[in-house]
Amino acid sequence: MMEIQQLNYEIRSKAIERVPKRDIERLSVSWFNKDLSYSGVSDTMYMILPTPGCSWALGNSGGCTMCSYISDSPMVKINSNKLFELFKEEFEKYELTDYTVIKIFVSGSFLNPLELDIESRDKILKYLSENEHIKEIVVESRPEYIKKDDLEDIFSIIGDKLFEISIGLESADDFTRDIKINKGFTKKDFEEGISIVKGLKNKHDIKSKAYILVKPILTNEKEAIDDAIKTAIYCDKIGVDRLSFTPVTVHRGTLLEFLWKRKAYQPSWIWSCVEIINNIRENITIPSLMDTSGFGSRRGPYNCKKCNKDLKHLIIDSNLKQSQIEYECNCKNEWHGIIESADLNKSKTFIKHLPLI
Ligand code: SF4
Ligand SMILES: [Zn+2]
Repeated sequence: MMEIQQLNYEIRSKAIERVPKRDIERLSVSWFNKDLSYSGVSDTMYMILPTPGCSWALGNSGGCTMCSYISDSPMVKINSNKLFELFKEEFEKYELTDYTVIKIFVSGSFLNPLELDIESRDKILKYLSENEHIKEIVVESRPEYIKKDDLEDIFSIIGDKLFEISIGLESADDFTRDIKINKGFTKKDFEEGISIVKGLKNKHDIKSKAYILVKPILTNEKEAIDDAIKTAIYCDKIGVDRLSFTPVTVHRGTLLEFLWKRKAYQPSWIWSCVEIINNIRENITIPSLMDTSGFGSRRGPYNCKKCNKDLKHLIIDSNLKQSQIEYECNCKNEWHGIIESADLNKSKTFIKHLPLI
C-alpha cells in the first residue's frame, strides 16, 4: 500500500514540475447556469478563483489519486486586492435574478487560510453580503478546516444568507478513502466537521454537502456502484444536507491517469451512474446530484455512441427534478454482463474504448 502512495507522490511531483507559468488573470473562470438550490431550480454562478492550490496536494502526501486541480493553480500567493479584483470582474459579467446562488471554487479548501487568506475571504464575503440577489454561497473545504469560530466570523459578515460547505468525503469505506483515493482524513474528521455545521444550524442558515466519488482506482464496476450507494446512505444518516456524486474523469498527471494509460483503470459506465441515481432516489431522503462533466468523452463515463448524450441530458434533468431515470439502449446488456461477472473476476477493469495493444 505504501507503494501506491509513493507512486502517487512521484507522479504528482513530476506533474507539478511540468506546470507551465501562466498568467494569473487567465486562471479565474466563471459560468452561469441553472442548478438545484435549496429553494428549487435557481440561477447559479460558478466561479474558479486562482489561489496557491490545495495544501494536501502540495504536501508530502501527493494529494488525492484522481485529482489534478493543483496543476490548474498558480501555486503562488496572489495579493488580496488582486484576487478581489479578479473576483469582481467575473462577478460583474452576469445579470443576477432574484434568487441567485454563487459557488466559489478555489481548487482546494475555501476555509484553509493558507489557501485563501482571511482578508481576501472577508472582502469577497462582504461584497456578496451587500448583493440582495445572492441568496446562497457555496464553498468547498476539507473537514479539518471547518472551525466553529471561523464560521461565526463568516456569518457575522454574510448575515442570514445561506452558506453551504461541500466536503469531498468520496467514500465512507476507510480502505477505499485512505488507500485507493489517498484522501488523508478519517471518518471521524468528517463527522466532526458535519457536527460543527449541525451545531450552528439553530443560529445560522448553514448546510453541508458531501461529494462522493464514483469508481476510484482498483475498483470494479459493481464495487463502484455499491460503494457510492453505501456512502450516500451513511451521509444521509449522519445529517449531511445534500450529496453530489462525481464519476471519475481521467485528470492529467494523476496516479489514476497512470493506471488508465496502462489499461488498468477505466471510468465507470453511465449505466452505473443511472443505477446509483435510481437506487438513492428510493433509499435516501436528501437531494442528490450527479455531475455529468466528461460524460461520453474518452476520459469520462461512457456507454455507447447512441445513448451517451441522451443519458447525460436525462441525468441533468433528474438532478433538477430529483426524479428517477427510465431509458433503454442495447448497450445495457453488455453493462449487465460486466456487473454480473464482477464477482468472478475481482481485478477486472473493463476496456471499452481504448485501442488494444
Ligand atoms: S480532491 Fe480536494 S483534497 Fe484532494 S487533492 Fe484535489 S483539491 Fe486537494
Ligand atoms: Zn447505449
